[in-house]
Amino acid sequence: KGERLRLPPWLKTEIPIGKNYNKLKNTLRDLNLHTVCEEARCPNIGECWGGGEHGTATATIMLMGDTCTRGCRFCSVKTARQPSPLDPDEPYNTAKAIAAWGLDYVVLTSVDRDDIADGGAEHFAKTVSNLKERKSQIMVECLTPDFRGDLAAVEKIAQSGLDVYAHNVETVRELQRHVRDPRANIDQSLNVLRHAKAVKPDILTKTSIMLETDRQIYNTLTELREAGVDCLTLGQYMQPTKRHLKVEEYVTPERFVHWEEVGKEMGFVYTASGPLVRSSYKAGEFFLKNLLE
Ligand code: SF4
Ligand code: SF4
Repeated sequence: KGERLRLPPWLKTEIPIGKNYNKLKNTLRDLNLHTVCEEARCPNIGECWGGGEHGTATATIMLMGDTCTRGCRFCSVKTARQPSPLDPDEPYNTAKAIAAWGLDYVVLTSVDRDDIADGGAEHFAKTVSNLKERKSQIMVECLTPDFRGDLAAVEKIAQSGLDVYAHNVETVRELQRHVRDPRANIDQSLNVLRHAKAVKPDILTKTSIMLETDRQIYNTLTELREAGVDCLTLGQYMQPTKRHLKVEEYVTPERFVHWEEVGKEMGFVYTASGPLVRSSYKAGEFFLKNLLE
């Protein structure tokens, strides 16, 4: 007990850099966009920004500031009870910058803002509609908070013109209390996903689980399918700092392949599963591949 596990070799490998990477990197300056890709030093940036065989460049943009009202045990985002107020111009300015940047697929995400009446749902929705007005061909995914179960907030975003509604359950049912902020729980998260699909059946719904161990995963995947979730990503949980939740186990690449097959058999539209997979990992590539098939 107390010892940190050693990093296994499959988490130390170099990740390829796709051809659009440098172009996006060079044109990002002056746009004033906060990408999670850069700020979280995500190891997949070369692949996501570079695009894959379909050349679909994906990036994740953070809305509503850098300070969260919650404190999940796996997350290194700053926490405060009352973060700075929202910038009312952000939906317009962000949409304009994203449209100018040359992305094919954008993930809009945010911290949880339990201090705001609608949790920022209107802010999300306005960003999507501004962006789609400027650039209708861009594919938009919103990775949203649970809005404390406020389904009107979920509906506002589901109806905003997006293509994919994502909300992460983060972990299996049994580990929810251990891992997530006490205000979050899996039933509330399943309701968010179920409601988004119910009010707008033609969008895809998506969720993500960070594995610390792969015990109990099967049951949670079953519950996700029952809630109509279409897309699934499974990745390895990595401890961001010493103060955060320890990694219980490094799940092997073979087990990730196994879970990908299970996901396929269960009927998810796609399952992206691998040690370095993150919720938005090559989202544009997966989306397009499945539209084309
Ligand atoms: Fe950015 Fe997400 Fe890709 Fe990481 S996985 S580079 S955060 S889009
Ligand atoms: Fe981090 Fe999201 Fe939890 Fe906030 S709600 S602490 S941003 S994981």
